[in-house]
Amino acid sequence: VPSRASSFVRTERLWDRHVAMARLGATAKGGVCRLALSKEEIPARRLLTQWGRALGCTVASDPIGNLFLTRAGTEPSALPVLSGSHLDSQPTGGRFDGIYGVLAALEAVEAMNAAGLRTPRPIEVVAWTNEEGCRFVPGCMGSLAFRSPERLATLLRAKDPVGLSVAEALAQVRAAEPDIPERPLGKRVAAFVEAHIEQGPLLEANGQVVGIVTGIQGTRRFEITVEGEDAHAGTTPLPARRDALSSAVSMVAALERLFQAGPSDIVRFTVGRFDVWPNAPSVVPGRVFFTIDFRSPDDDLLTRLGDQVASVCDANRKQCAVEIVETIRTPSIAFSGPVPEAIEAACRDLQVPYARIYSGAGHDAQHLFHITPTGMIFVPCEKGISHNERENAKPQDLADGARVLADVLVTLANS
Ligand SMILES: [Zn+2]
Repeated sequence: VPSRASSFVRTERLWDRHVAMARLGATAKGGVCRLALSKEEIPARRLLTQWGRALGCTVASDPIGNLFLTRAGTEPSALPVLSGSHLDSQPTGGRFDGIYGVLAALEAVEAMNAAGLRTPRPIEVVAWTNEEGCRFVPGCMGSLAFRSPERLATLLRAKDPVGLSVAEALAQVRAAEPDIPERPLGKRVAAFVEAHIEQGPLLEANGQVVGIVTGIQGTRRFEITVEGEDAHAGTTPLPARRDALSSAVSMVAALERLFQAGPSDIVRFTVGRFDVWPNAPSVVPGRVFFTIDFRSPDDDLLTRLGDQVASVCDANRKQCAVEIVETIRTPSIAFSGPVPEAIEAACRDLQVPYARIYSGAGHDAQHLFHITPTGMIFVPCEKGISHNERENAKPQDLADGARVLADVLVTLANS
């Protein structure tokens, strides 16, 4: 079929765009530091806007800063097909996480143009705001706001570690984008497809090029603050101490016992942040803050274990006070229906080796899932290394994923 969009995907062009984007926030070790709504992300948004306009797309942003490049359809009232991922990275992130899904969708649009294909539905390339969640909590913020616009006001108040709010950071972004109109938050959508590097080792190890994502495991995250009292390490008798670190360590040990009691590796429990005040050798610690994050495909386990966090912490607080806040709760989801079906059909047509694969990591697709038919395309990354400056992927694999995506978007935008 000469006019198939996939025939017009160009490996080098897609690779060159990754190289150009990787310069924006480049780190000395070859990775990327492009935090959400930062001065490094602004030029990435400018470059994407410029590329989109060169392809005939109209560009708009919404009140949480999601960026949309729209390729018009022939049917004015038809709902759009969305495809994209995110431009932001972890502080020591790589050159492919997030950006690949945006550039693959852009490549699909370029290929459709080259093929002379028009579709009834518009196609919108989207870059969701703050997927990584390391500067502002929660992550997947842009897609969450798109799904649930009533949460916008709360999300805009979230602050980064130096006290700057999302609203203030967005004002800086907007000042650099006077030519980009704002559109309302949220919209009815015909379908969403997100391409992403796997961030795990399976596709590469098994010689497959595309992973059709079957689901994403659920997550619960808590912030725990233990309040004791600062005291002199030499003069304060043990019975008089309110040692926040001693209590926090007991809590973590008890939580580890709780979470490791079940079948192995069905729940992944992590204490990823642990702050101690005043963090001085001769002071009994007066305060500790730590996070717990656990994930599982099994929603019953998420409920049962998560609901014990408060009582386990309380039982181990000793003379201290403890405050527990749940900041993230997303159920596990399973992708089915037209999007994974279209991905499988395209893989077969294009003879791209594929496998079904479950996602251990969270993605923007987990929010879109609740409002529209959704699916994800994974491509291999070297040794599964991700959230790491050494993250790497092969130009051919990236292009094969984009070829599949291009045909999937045409199928969905025609139906
Ligand atoms: Zn990502």
